[in-house]
Amino acid sequence: MDFALTEEQMMLKTNVRNFLEKEIVPVVDEHEKQGPLTKEAAVGFFQRLMPFGYLVGFLPEQYGGGALDHKTNGILIEELARAWGSLAGTLFLAAGFWWLLTEAGTPEQKERLLPLAASGDYIGCLAITESNVGSDVAGVETTAILDGDKYIVNGTKTWISNGSIADAAFVLATTDKTQGPLAMCFLLIEKETSPFCTRELHKLGLRSFPTAELSFNDCPVPKENLLDPGSGYQRTMAFFDVSRAMVGATSTGIAQAAIDASIKYAQDRTQFGRPIGSFQMIQEMLVDMIAETEAGRLLSFRALDLLDKGEKCRWQSSLAKAYTTEAAVRTTSKAIQIHGAMGLSDEYPVERYFRDARTLTIPDGTTQMQKLIVGRDALGIRAFT
Ligand SMILES: Cc1cc2nc3c(=O)[nH]c(=O)nc-3n(C[C@H](O)[C@H](O)[C@H](O)COP(=O)(O)OP(=O)(O)OC[C@H]3O[C@@H](n4cnc5c(N)ncnc54)[C@H](O)[C@@H]3O)c2cc1C
Repeated sequence: MDFALTEEQMMLKTNVRNFLEKEIVPVVDEHEKQGPLTKEAAVGFFQRLMPFGYLVGFLPEQYGGGALDHKTNGILIEELARAWGSLAGTLFLAAGFWWLLTEAGTPEQKERLLPLAASGDYIGCLAITESNVGSDVAGVETTAILDGDKYIVNGTKTWISNGSIADAAFVLATTDKTQGPLAMCFLLIEKETSPFCTRELHKLGLRSFPTAELSFNDCPVPKENLLDPGSGYQRTMAFFDVSRAMVGATSTGIAQAAIDASIKYAQDRTQFGRPIGSFQMIQEMLVDMIAETEAGRLLSFRALDLLDKGEKCRWQSSLAKAYTTEAAVRTTSKAIQIHGAMGLSDEYPVERYFRDARTLTIPDGTTQMQKLIVGRDALGIRAFT
C-alpha cells in the first residue's frame, strides 16, 4: 500500500497553502459572519482558485481540466478546508455536479453544459435528501411523471448544498413509487427553463456554505433531461464513494488548522511563568490531536488511492468518513481546551473549527450509517436494507 505524495503533489500542496494563507484566510471571518456565500462571491473565489486545479481540474483537458486524480483533488480540498471549511464544501459540491454530468450525462447534455464548467460561474447541486428521506435514500418520494415530452416533477428536497445559488440541480426522483430503487433516476433540472423555489437553511457550522430547501411544484422538465433510467440509486452510491473520502479530507484539513492554531497558542501563552506548551497535559492533548488527524488522513487517502486505481472502496470510504469526521470533532474540541476561555471566543478561529467539524458528521451519511456499511462488509450481515 503506497500512496506517498509525488514531488509534484508536494509542490502543489505548498503553493496552494501559501496562496490560501495570504489571499483567503484573512477574509474568512468577515464572510462567516455574513452567512451563506452569494453566488457572486462563490464564483469570485472559484475563479481565483481554479488555476491550481480546483473545481474542474479533474475534468478532461477538452473541458478546461487537467485530468487530476482523486488524491490530488484530496490534497487540494484538505488544504482549502484548512483555510476555510465552508469554501471547501461549496467548491467540492459544485465539482460534484460536474462529476455526475461527466459520469452519467447524455452526449447532448455534456456538449451543451461542460464547456460552461471552465468559466466557474455555472453552479450545480445534487439533490437527494427529503424531509422523510435522509439515511434511507431508497425511500425517495419526489416523483417525475412523464406527460408528453416532459416529466412533471413534484417534491421537496432539503439540506441541499449550494441549493440557493445553483443554476441547475441533479434531482433524485422516482418514476414509479412501487418499484423502489429500480425506478430511481436523476433529472437535470435547469432553473432558467424549469423554475423551482429555494429557501436557505441556517446551521451550526460551515455558515458560509449555502444549504437550502428546493421545492418542485408541477415543475416541467424536458424528457431528455432524465439521466440513464433506473440508475439513480447506484449513481448516488458511486458519488458517495468519492464524497465520503473527500469529507474525510475536508475534516482532516479542519483538524490540521486546529492543531496548527493550538501549537502556536501553546508556545505563546504563558501561565505559572512558563509557556503552557511546556505542561505535559497540554502536550498529551496535542499528541492525541496529531495522532488522530494523521490516522484520518491516511484512511482518507487510502480510499482516494483505491478510487484512482479503479478499485472498489465502499467500506474504506465509509471508514474514512466515520473515523475522520468524529476524530476532527475530538481534535477541535481539544483545541478549544488548549485555548482556555479564548477558545470559546470568536476572536480566535478554533470555535469555528469545532462548529465546522461537528457539522460534517451528518452529510453524505451519518457516522452511524458509515459504521453499518463497514459492519456489513466485515460480517456479511446487513443491519439495514
Ligand atoms: C452540511 C450539510 C450538507 C448537506 N448536503 C446535502 C446535499 O448536497 N444533497 C443532499 O441530498 N443532502 C445533503 N445533506 C443531507 C444529508 O445527506 C442528510 O442530513 C443525512 O444523510 C442524514 O439524514 P437525516 O438528516 O434525515 O437524518 P436521519 O436519517 O433522520 O437520521 C437521524 C438519526 O438516526 C440515525 N439512523 C438512521 N437510520 C439508522 C439506522 N438504520 N441505524 C442506526 N441509526 C440510524 C442517524 O445516524 C442519525 O443519528 C446535507 C446535510 C448537511 C448537514
